[in-house]
Amino acid sequence: MQYKRILLKLSGEALMGDRNYGIDPKRLSEYAKEIKEVVDKGIEVAIVIGGGNIFRGVAGASNGMDRVQGDHMGMLATCINGLALQSALEAENVFTRLQTALEIKEVAEPYIRRKAIRHLEKGRVVIFGAGTGNPYFTTDTAAVLRAIEIDADAILKGTRVDGVYDADPEKFKNAVKFENITFKDVIEKGLKVMDMTAFTLSEENNLPIIIFDMNKQGNLLKLVSGEKVGTLINI
Ligand code: UDP
Repeated sequence: MQYKRILLKLSGEALMGDRNYGIDPKRLSEYAKEIKEVVDKGIEVAIVIGGGNIFRGVAGASNGMDRVQGDHMGMLATCINGLALQSALEAENVFTRLQTALEIKEVAEPYIRRKAIRHLEKGRVVIFGAGTGNPYFTTDTAAVLRAIEIDADAILKGTRVDGVYDADPEKFKNAVKFENITFKDVIEKGLKVMDMTAFTLSEENNLPIIIFDMNKQGNLLKLVSGEKVGTLINI
């Protein structure tokens, strides 16, 4: 196996499947099966899940809502997704813990780094909810932060595109995919991978990022097994 401990970042929108809002149970269950496959290989899996399928603070602010209030709503949305994912994983007989950066202690454990690492060592999937716990951040930043804290080998960002391209492949047919690219080149070429806060945090801490298509069956397992899937970003 290429990786021993991974941090998987899933966006909230990925959970929508073909819907415009909320959670598609079919998509959720497909993801749970993909995750189970890698857990069964002995890979330690931590997950950060977004909330964009339910609420984004920026969207609230553009409609006149207080930004911080909106971000609190966004963070709670990630907890809803975390609970849904936990349930889907448990349906596949995967042991899980949800840890949240905002305390909702009747529902989930508070985030405690040492506990999270212990759960991983015991083979439990740890889902991190509520982002960083702070407004004005994203779940991409939360994903990088947690990955560094738990000493993950890499951050695997599952998207609907199979890597980083020199132009948007959904708009430009001739767009060329990078197999590998450095952090520096991503910045110089102005490519969009993550928001800058997340991206530079990853670069500064030498944490490789892999962008891959999470909707293609078997991709996650291939990736952790060392097969060339998606685009690898490193120093
Ligand atoms: N959010 C936040 N702090 C964080 C992470 C998330 O305030 O550390 C809020 C923010 O409002 C954001 C929302 O939660 O818009 C959902 O997260 P994100 O947009 O990153 O989700 P994704 O795009 O991955 O679905």
